[in-house]
Amino acid sequence: MTLNPTRPPRHPNGVLDVSTTPAALQPTAPRSDWWSPEVGAGLLSAVLGVGAVLLFGALGWPGGPYDCAEHGTCFCEAPRAGWIRQPVNTWTNLAPIALALVVGARGAWWKKERARRGQPSRALDLLGLLFPATLAFQGWGSMFFHASLKGWGHAIDALSMFAIAGLLAGTNLLRLGLVTPQKLIGGWIGVMALGLLVGLSSSDAVSALVFALFLTILGTEVRAASRGLTVDSRFFRLGLGFHVTGIAVWFLSLVEGQPLCAPDSWLQGHGLWHLTAGLAIAGFTEHAQRNVDQARRG
Ligand SMILES: [Zn+2]
Repeated sequence: MTLNPTRPPRHPNGVLDVSTTPAALQPTAPRSDWWSPEVGAGLLSAVLGVGAVLLFGALGWPGGPYDCAEHGTCFCEAPRAGWIRQPVNTWTNLAPIALALVVGARGAWWKKERARRGQPSRALDLLGLLFPATLAFQGWGSMFFHASLKGWGHAIDALSMFAIAGLLAGTNLLRLGLVTPQKLIGGWIGVMALGLLVGLSSSDAVSALVFALFLTILGTEVRAASRGLTVDSRFFRLGLGFHVTGIAVWFLSLVEGQPLCAPDSWLQGHGLWHLTAGLAIAGFTEHAQRNVDQARRG
């Protein structure tokens, strides 16, 4: 039988025969897959991470305290007795963890879309697994700090921020053709090691270095757009909007005396920052996958 490219074959009952239709002619885009390895990667990261937080909480959080006064702030919420020292600032990190599952479902969708187009890519499949796992890490990494208020908890929080920002910056370098997938992974591991070292030794430098990574993402994004590699920037602009809003909330809730800081309240501005940060990263990862794929189409 020969395929007529303008008339996809049909079963005798009139239903479109997708099994024998060329991929490009298949009428429907793939559906998001909530039971995929990508969602599983986010879920596994979340279960292991939150499980570790609860385990160390049950053990009484060994190790030296994080000196909030010396470092300027512990993000407003008054410490409480028990396993979870800052409950609002801790549990609001379930937002990025939930968003990691959405990011996983989107990663599964993009993988199917690549297969449908006949452009499979093991490197992009790997990114589809790393994005949800790392966004979940952003959530439980922050839980380690806010639940424990320990110095080493702060280092894990720093590591998680370096992990997600480093992965996004590396993905942009990949889009620009400046690194291979192997170098992306090697550089990403290096950035995370740096994040852990800085978090353990000089916690005051964490915010500045994470901001530098953010500027790298922004700069490489502008470069990609100027080279015509950005076909669709909607999700980047959406993520940027959440991020800028989140930074404003972060500053306005930083210490007592700021308008959004009420230490004993169950409404914490810093908790809102956790939500906006998760939404921003979800937007940036969708943008990255959308445009890595779209750049390969041309
Ligand atoms: Zn936080």
